[in-house]
Amino acid sequence: MKLVSLALDSVDSLHSGCTTHFSILLLKSLAGRVRLADLPLLVRLNPGVPWKTRGNGAVVLRLLYDGELGELLDVAYNLALEYSGGKRDVGVVIYKGEPWGVERLRWIYIRALTSIVTLDVATSTLDKLGGLHAGGRGVIGATASLAALGPGDDFTFELLAYRDPSLWGSERCVDRLKALHIESMLPPCTFYNVDVLTGEFISSPGGSDPVLAGFRGNCLTQLFEYSKVLCEKPHFWALFRTNQHTDAHLVELDELAPYNTGYVEAVVDGEPEVVEGSHVVVRASAKLGDVDLVFYRETGPLNRVARMLMPGDRVRALGSLRPYKPRGVSVIAVEKLWVLEVARRIVEVNPRCPRCSARLKSAGLGKGFKCEKCGYEASGLSKIRVEMGRRLTPGVYVTSRLKHLTAPPGRRRLEGLKPPLNLDVGDVLFSEAHPEPPRALRDLELSMGEPGLHSLSTI
Ligand SMILES: [Zn+2]
Repeated sequence: MKLVSLALDSVDSLHSGCTTHFSILLLKSLAGRVRLADLPLLVRLNPGVPWKTRGNGAVVLRLLYDGELGELLDVAYNLALEYSGGKRDVGVVIYKGEPWGVERLRWIYIRALTSIVTLDVATSTLDKLGGLHAGGRGVIGATASLAALGPGDDFTFELLAYRDPSLWGSERCVDRLKALHIESMLPPCTFYNVDVLTGEFISSPGGSDPVLAGFRGNCLTQLFEYSKVLCEKPHFWALFRTNQHTDAHLVELDELAPYNTGYVEAVVDGEPEVVEGSHVVVRASAKLGDVDLVFYRETGPLNRVARMLMPGDRVRALGSLRPYKPRGVSVIAVEKLWVLEVARRIVEVNPRCPRCSARLKSAGLGKGFKCEKCGYEASGLSKIRVEMGRRLTPGVYVTSRLKHLTAPPGRRRLEGLKPPLNLDVGDVLFSEAHPEPPRALRDLELSMGEPGLHSLSTI
């Protein structure tokens, strides 16, 4: 069978639905006619883009398929329109071959992670390469995600549980104590399921989202343990491979343009300023020019670290450019900070009195010092330079609520999965309340070698 990538984006409506949910319904409907060359791929793109759908995530199904490509496009597009209530934004793209090896598609992927890709660029590229497309703005994300998660790319897993449509909008039943228990029992290969600072369960979205919960980690079969925290029976489960939490967007910024995402290396120029709302702004000079690094209150620990920065500190800041310049320079909303080098903090203090050892007072400019305690006057003494300790130490700092793409500090890179695989649709979709990982996934995990443990000390 031939390798065919079917990519989807913006298949949702304002009130409910999401592209991942739709992709699995589509996969179910194709089950008898395809096999899978990979797990369903969940591809997150530039978090700085303002007109993204929630989370800016596209899905790629890498199919082994022998049928007609135009027919596959029609089936997927018509179902997508039906699912989203006729939304014109939906995007469906089909490409035959190995898209990760096509330079132009790789370029669009990196560009869509870090900047903005126009619909024009996406469709003209597909036309040139023989790819098929249908729909509106979603074609951008779908095209961009085609070349993601190639054999050399880092990745993680997410096991997603979806709700029965009759329950959409109602409160989710999650056993939070059990979640804490399971979190504490699992090896350090899962992340972002429980807030490590507050103990809060963060795997469930709110509101009318069809997602019941999504469990994330480097390890694969162990994620299934989390199914025990749900007291609501999912409609079905699906296992995705994803670029989430891999720092895929950690690319050096080449332009300080609004909505671009990436990192700058910079030297702190000014004292941190706490502005209204408890946000912190730090002026820094980078290769591309002066920037204001902003650490929003919501970034929690990162906001607190920013308050400890001082002039001369050398940092790498990962984040997205904001569209405004309230203080005349570009603003980067920081989501991850590497403190590369802390400046020495030297303060000058008055010397002590040689007679009674009280701290001397200045007698006025150029007039030396005098002792207020014993009246001693000294003209030949000068200020003493003292090095103060810094509370801030070099290291990596993140928010407590990681953005989708941000890697937790200490996470180990995953490699060793070599598509095309040959999986049954039933190997990645489950309908039980508490599914067991199927044989094919256990074999897959074994073939990847060591489970992706990360170092506990740095989390
Ligand atoms: Zn004295």
